Amino acid sequence: MPIYEYLCDQCERRFEALRPIRESSDPVPCPQCFRDSKRMMPTSFTAFTVRDGYPRSIPDTGKYYHLGKEVSKPVTGGVRINEHEEINIDEPAPAETKAEKEAMKERRAVVKNEMARIERDDGPVKEWKDDS
Ligand SMILES: [Zn+2]
Repeated sequence: MPIYEYLCDQCERRFEALRPIRESSDPVPCPQCFRDSKRMMPTSFTAFTVRDGYPRSIPDTGKYYHLGKEVSKPVTGGVRINEHEEINIDEPAPAETKAEKEAMKERRAVVKNEMARIERDDGPVKEWKDDS
């Protein structure tokens, strides 16, 4: 399916959509405000430039599109399929559960007690020295 360029009259967002040729002139919902957007037609009154093999209307913002979202550079190798570093940001690791927090607290307490016991029995912990 070819890529067509659409312009939202409401918010002036310009975006691209992959569509079958027979549906290329049908309105597409704007990804920003969800209103119907018209296809930008390459007429004699619209100046186009070609960058990276795609026609771009002038002024060319220099932006690229990835899965309908605007990005500053095209997707290159080294990313997961269909993913773009500016869009697919890894989710943060899940927060520690209450049980994990409790377990960590307990472990710290055990270490603290053990350190206290060593200091009490053997005096302050000194740096280990090799006497040989
Ligand atoms: Zn819009």
